[in-house]
Amino acid sequence: MKIERLLRKNIRRLKPYSAKEVPCRVKLDANESPYGFPSFLAPLSDVRTNQYPDPEARELRRVAARLWRLRAGQILPGNGSDELISYLITTFGGPVLFPVPTFSMYGIIAQALGEDAVSVPLDSAFDLDVDGMLAAVRKHRPKLVFLSSPNNPTGNSFSTERIMRIVDASRGIVVIDEAYQPFSGGRGMLHLLGDHENVTVMRTLSKVGFAALRVGMLIGREDLIEAVNRVRLPFNVSALSQAVAVEALKNFSEVKKALKMIRKERERLYSGLKRTDGVTPYPSKANFILFRVGDAEAVYRGLLTRGVLVRYLGPALRDCLRVTVGTPEENGIFLAALREALRRGRQ
Ligand SMILES: *Cc1c(COP(=O)(O)O)cnc(C)c1O
Repeated sequence: MKIERLLRKNIRRLKPYSAKEVPCRVKLDANESPYGFPSFLAPLSDVRTNQYPDPEARELRRVAARLWRLRAGQILPGNGSDELISYLITTFGGPVLFPVPTFSMYGIIAQALGEDAVSVPLDSAFDLDVDGMLAAVRKHRPKLVFLSSPNNPTGNSFSTERIMRIVDASRGIVVIDEAYQPFSGGRGMLHLLGDHENVTVMRTLSKVGFAALRVGMLIGREDLIEAVNRVRLPFNVSALSQAVAVEALKNFSEVKKALKMIRKERERLYSGLKRTDGVTPYPSKANFILFRVGDAEAVYRGLLTRGVLVRYLGPALRDCLRVTVGTPEENGIFLAALREALRRGRQ
């Protein structure tokens, strides 16, 4: 029996998100934090592993609501924001609109669910092409618009004025994906929730030291959260993840110390890249830097030969690589390996 023959058409052509385990010495490909499990996690021994988790993650929602000065009913935790993207598209359907290049899961999940995906290229500064986006809004009337700001993989935040024009023109929901907001130095877009009824925001713990938990949050008006909650699978966030996430949010000032180090290292890494011949880094408000290097595929391989794993972005950004900000030591190893790989490439 050929399984392929039984698949829905949209699944036949679907390529999964690529996340391979590549053995390496210095892992700087996935925007994880280099700083892990802190000492404030002792309460974990209270988790009752024989029972199902709290299906409504009440404590987690309460703590998050307190941190962001919202109501618990405005927060829906997911198994990573990936799951929440899937729930949003399951709930509202398509068309789904997003700029490109951006986080690939918006398009992958839309396709997997058989919904139309519409993409509009960013402008030459990687900001939103507002005329192109508005034309797509008028033409396709998207049910959902996904804006990652700061944007992965370009690293810049979109201009607030352009985001607002898209929010004002959209009859559907505009999802502002703030996976990298903690690195941006800005306050983010949660303040829009009061006055803009079609805005919802996603945050995640994945980039701030807790990628292993798989905890993301959808934040928005209570009736939207209630609607999305209808498609949520029971017990979608494990008890251990809920417990760690609660402590992480309660101790967010501790977490922020690591974020501050990463921001400082980002600036050091940026100037190191800037001083490297044949490399053009783009300014970043996230915990990674996109840089142009000419033959990116060759440089990617040259780095990997030296044990350093970065992200090769494929045809969409064929002359660029994305490097996550690591510890000072990792960043030093990366820069040395990059310079060596480039020297070899030119010979
Ligand atoms: C990493 C990333 C996510 C995924 O977050 P999880 O919570 O780990 O699922 C979402 N959006 C963007 C833009 C990301 O870069």
